[in-house]
Amino acid sequence: MQIIRSVAELESAIENFKKQGKSVGLVPTMGALHDGHVSLVSKCRKENDIAVVSVFVNPTQFNNKTDLATYPRDEKKDAALLESKGVDIMFAPQPEDVYSEEEMSKTFDFDFQGLDKVMEGLQRPGHFNGVVQIVSKLLSFVKPDKAYFGEKDFQQVAIIKLMVRTMGFKLEIVQCPIIREESGLARSSRNQLLSDDERKNAANIYRVLKESVNFVPSIAPAELTQKVVDEINACDGLQVEYYEIVNGDTLQKISSWDDADYVVGCVTVHCGKVRLIDNIRLK
Ligand code: AMP
Repeated sequence: MQIIRSVAELESAIENFKKQGKSVGLVPTMGALHDGHVSLVSKCRKENDIAVVSVFVNPTQFNNKTDLATYPRDEKKDAALLESKGVDIMFAPQPEDVYSEEEMSKTFDFDFQGLDKVMEGLQRPGHFNGVVQIVSKLLSFVKPDKAYFGEKDFQQVAIIKLMVRTMGFKLEIVQCPIIREESGLARSSRNQLLSDDERKNAANIYRVLKESVNFVPSIAPAELTQKVVDEINACDGLQVEYYEIVNGDTLQKISSWDDADYVVGCVTVHCGKVRLIDNIRLK
């Protein structure tokens, strides 16, 4: 596996592979890799001649400086894991390798067509601008045939698909299911920051989400929303930031189960100092 840090080197390696007619897959990550990432990497490895994984804690998508400072990093371990999974290139740049000073300091401009006005977009102003900024850069460096994203970041996938459509990228976006710990807790790099007790408490998030499916369609969306919020908040150490039942395509809240064929319950919960997100398909 090649570990590449400069954009020029990455582009030249990719160009070489493309000249040989090889297909290229990309998995963008922020490192501190876990089984959730591995599921994307394995799919990418299987479906493409060349598998590229980026490991980059993108500063422009952090609206909270403490979150950026405490974000777990372990490049050596990540490199060993990716090597063992047969990855061809790990792209691990420093911020100055991908951004000019101006790009670092200015909010990236993008027309989200309203997709940033709900859930994560509302709670983390500028977050998705940074996500679109880095993913569009990675797509233009790597020009992959396929790129892999996890459904755990549900709103992110919707926004990346919009970005691909509106910015004219030619590739397939592959959406991958949420990988969970045995307890049901969605795997996340931030889980490392939980104490043993917090980890146990956090397992209640998925327990409540899973139970919520049984109430569709007998309870109206607004009532189910209140029920999920109350049940999670009743658990030790958990505080819901938002829970929304949305149309899975438009991310807009639904008021009746007949409003959409594809419906997802999306939640963000604070567990101690850690902010955890999860979601479940309700219809
Ligand atoms: P991150 O490193 O958190 O930016 O995640 C990189 C990619 O891995 C994103 O597309 C995430 O949605 C995906 N991902 C993270 N956690 C999981 C998980 N538990 N299951 C599936 N995909 C995940």
